[in-house]
Amino acid sequence: MAEKFTYDVAVLGAGIVGTATALRLTLSGYKVCLIDKDEPCVGTSSGNAGVIASGSVMPLGTPGLWKSLPKMLLTPTPALKISPLHLPKMAPWLLDFAKASRPKEVKRLSKAITALSQGSLDEHLQLADIAGCRDRFRMTGYLKTFESQKSFDATAQEREWMTEYGLSYDTYNANDIRDLEPNLAPIFTNAYSAHDTASVDNPMKVGQAYFQAFLEHGGRFEKAPITNLLNQKSSHLELKTTTGTIQAKKTVITLGAFSSTVAKKFGANVKLDTERGYHAVLAHEKGIEVLSRPVFFSDRSFVLAPTDEGVRMTIGAELAGLKAEADYDWIKNHIPTARRMLPGLAPHPERLWLGYRPSTPDSLPVIGPSPKDSRIIFAYGHAHLGLTQSANTARLVDHFVSDRNPNMDITPYAADR
Ligand SMILES: Cc1cc2nc3c(=O)[nH]c(=O)nc-3n(C[C@H](O)[C@H](O)[C@H](O)COP(=O)(O)OP(=O)(O)OC[C@H]3O[C@@H](n4cnc5c(N)ncnc54)[C@H](O)[C@@H]3O)c2cc1C
Repeated sequence: MAEKFTYDVAVLGAGIVGTATALRLTLSGYKVCLIDKDEPCVGTSSGNAGVIASGSVMPLGTPGLWKSLPKMLLTPTPALKISPLHLPKMAPWLLDFAKASRPKEVKRLSKAITALSQGSLDEHLQLADIAGCRDRFRMTGYLKTFESQKSFDATAQEREWMTEYGLSYDTYNANDIRDLEPNLAPIFTNAYSAHDTASVDNPMKVGQAYFQAFLEHGGRFEKAPITNLLNQKSSHLELKTTTGTIQAKKTVITLGAFSSTVAKKFGANVKLDTERGYHAVLAHEKGIEVLSRPVFFSDRSFVLAPTDEGVRMTIGAELAGLKAEADYDWIKNHIPTARRMLPGLAPHPERLWLGYRPSTPDSLPVIGPSPKDSRIIFAYGHAHLGLTQSANTARLVDHFVSDRNPNMDITPYAADR
């Protein structure tokens, strides 16, 4: 690729945030180039639990988390793991995480999370209709289950805030849970499920359908690692890839957990690290339709999600950075517990997978123009809610690219917050 192409917008990174954004911008009439070193949506955006979790209103850091931390880390099969090797590098992130966990902050962050998630299902369904993948969306909700009244009561704050923010939900007793999901073990006392919550049967295929629609609407894809982003004084930015140079009037950074270098270069001061998460695909003796919706086991901190290839168990916040080897034994150790929750699951996984959540200390993504160059727009750091918030993020980015005022308070997501 020796010649230089000029686009209205270059979108760097073709995970779910990048593909949804590229599609949205193309629909708005922009000439868009999407760039990734890999095929679209084969990384972190491929292996998540597939939940459009509009009702998940709590940031990760809460005062309660600190109290339960020793127990969480010391249980024989913890869902949280911190690598001693990565700890020194992550210390500043953890310090900011501690600050963001103060009660006053938690309420503010919870409102900002909700503002970005609310209406996300509608935004996704619009994109899905255009991309012809609406049949992958299941409107059956996301069930959060509890093994005791005490653990249910411990999450009262979340439901209180959901009500305050206008998010409705249903609560269920043990009999209701058996009616909803008869294949679960009969050990759950309580559950709840937020309205306007849904799931997809394969997040990679949804992202790739968005990508195909982007191409069909005139978008262009370059498969190349980005090596440099030049802050030019001319009217165009130049992007260096290993295969050449691309010019664009505006550039959107959707590199997920890999956004740090370019984000720092262009003035983002929000710390970014990764919470690594794993999945195991498990066969079930009753086939793939053994659950009607993803189920979160609150007392165990993992999800069992039905997918088009089997039950996907997702677990983990492993704080070990981007380079450490995968520890698949960690998730394998949780399979016996998963089999107790959903009897009939196979003891051995058909596939194991590791993904990198792009995580900020305050559980909010960075969305908005770079403080150093307003032609660069950030859209990364969606942590546990990247699939959920991608379609709304795409809409926000469209506002920024078009220099329109988004009709919501965007200060919580600012790069220099
Ligand atoms: C186990 C697990 C379960 C989850 N469950 C859910 C869920 O149920 N619901 C939900 O909403 N979210 C969930 N998430 C979170 C969600 O998956 C992420 O937030 C989301 O995938 C992040 O998307 P992204 O597009 O920002 O990043 P990515 O998907 O990581 O995309 C970034 C892209 O940038 C590319 N890239 C990086 N560096 C370069 C370079 N130098 N040059 C070119 N390209 C580059 C990468 O190849 C990649 O394609 C889960 C995450 C995990 C790990």
